[in-house]
Amino acid sequence: MKRHIVGNWKMNLELPEALVLAQEVAGFAGDYPTLQITIAPSLPWLVSIKEALTFMPTNFALASQVVSPHPHGAYTGDVSATQLKPLVRYCLVGHSERRRFHHEDSQAIQSQITELCKVGITPIVCFGESKQSSSPSMVNQVLQALKRDLASLQPEVGEKCLFAYEPLWAIGTGHPATADYTTKMATAFKAWAKQAFTHDAPLLYGGSVTTANAAALGSIKVIDGLLVGGVSLHGREFKTICAHYSQRV
Ligand code: PEP
Repeated sequence: MKRHIVGNWKMNLELPEALVLAQEVAGFAGDYPTLQITIAPSLPWLVSIKEALTFMPTNFALASQVVSPHPHGAYTGDVSATQLKPLVRYCLVGHSERRRFHHEDSQAIQSQITELCKVGITPIVCFGESKQSSSPSMVNQVLQALKRDLASLQPEVGEKCLFAYEPLWAIGTGHPATADYTTKMATAFKAWAKQAFTHDAPLLYGGSVTTANAAALGSIKVIDGLLVGGVSLHGREFKTICAHYSQRV
């Protein structure tokens, strides 16, 4: 399975900086052919970045941070999957910041996934608990919440998704989940996904990934990639994370 490094730029960078960083990432992506390297810039910059990148290695792609749950129509400010299709290969869905600040719920998430899959954009479905807990029931609660997010979808649709385990308490805090904690959650996810889907569903980890912890996170066998927020805004550090992760055997 191809391993993924995804950079979520969130609502950061003005256009000139975004263009420079996108060029930098596209420039080094080819050095790590075992990885799929994807960046998710702010929505208004996608067109300019796509046009400016005259060379894109095949293992480099753009992602959107948002998509409308609706196919088209009177939804001011929304952008449809069809409109994104010429620009991106991936799209984040269910990120905790979208759930929190835009009240995106399971129904919206299912519709977004459906819309994306209709046009062939791969959803990156984010999930994770809000509080760190060593309770054995926590793993179950997290998986139940993920199942609710996918409830009305056919397994064939779920099979088209990448998944990202992002414990909310680890996002932007500088406190990533430990390897043991992540392994427990990821192992349970994989066991569930094995029953739910016909293939090994790819699972990324996200939450305070840095150059210092990328190698340790990379050694977790049940994790297939990393979703990187803050550090993905720094080309050199993002490259170092890719370098560490590509060394995984
Ligand atoms: C994220 O926003 O998805 C994320 C993982 O952020 P950070 O790496 O900054 O914790």
